[in-house]
Amino acid sequence: MFNIVLFGPPGAGKGTQSQRLIEKYDLVHLSTGDVFRDNIKNQTELGKLAKSYMDAGRLVPDEVTIDMLRSEVTKYSAPKGFIFDGFPRTNAQAKALDVFLASLNTEIKLMLALEVTEDELKMRLLNRAEVSGRPDDANISVIENRIAVYNRETAPVKAYYEDKNKYIAIDGIGSIDEITHRLFASIDQVI
Ligand code: AMP
Repeated sequence: MFNIVLFGPPGAGKGTQSQRLIEKYDLVHLSTGDVFRDNIKNQTELGKLAKSYMDAGRLVPDEVTIDMLRSEVTKYSAPKGFIFDGFPRTNAQAKALDVFLASLNTEIKLMLALEVTEDELKMRLLNRAEVSGRPDDANISVIENRIAVYNRETAPVKAYYEDKNKYIAIDGIGSIDEITHRLFASIDQVI
């Protein structure tokens, strides 16, 4: 299996670029945010639990998120690989992912990290709110909290992959196509 972590702050373009990558490399896109939103829509217990955290721009607790991720991954039989989008968001999640993938005799091959300035992120998220219908995109103080949570809890995950020589920074500013080509070029070097 060929597994990638697509990393970056909220609004960096992870979801958009994931669509391009799954088409080209025939991978499964696994976005923890999307799974939580589906659960909210279907009013499951998991959705009810996740909603209060998401509406405030806070992280859903690790234990809940890791359990959910494991059960999502095991839904697929013999995938070519996964693009993890929005996961891992803490070092505890990164460690749990390694242990879990090792139990499946696979691993993360690389982390591709989209880099975008904070001003650009805020602008993109406020614009996205008009089409996404996401309550956490519509409110500037929630957006600022998500970026602060990213800087505090999620950005340190880069070092986890850097230590394993799996981290690649990608300039996330430019047209969607330009950024896609940067991602393709990095993947094609290791695939
Ligand atoms: P996203 O769609 O990736 O922007 O995620 C939206 C929200 O879902 C986040 O602000 C968190 O509240 C929650 N969430 C998504 N992925 C995770 C994760 N790996 N760990 C904790 N919370 C998450």
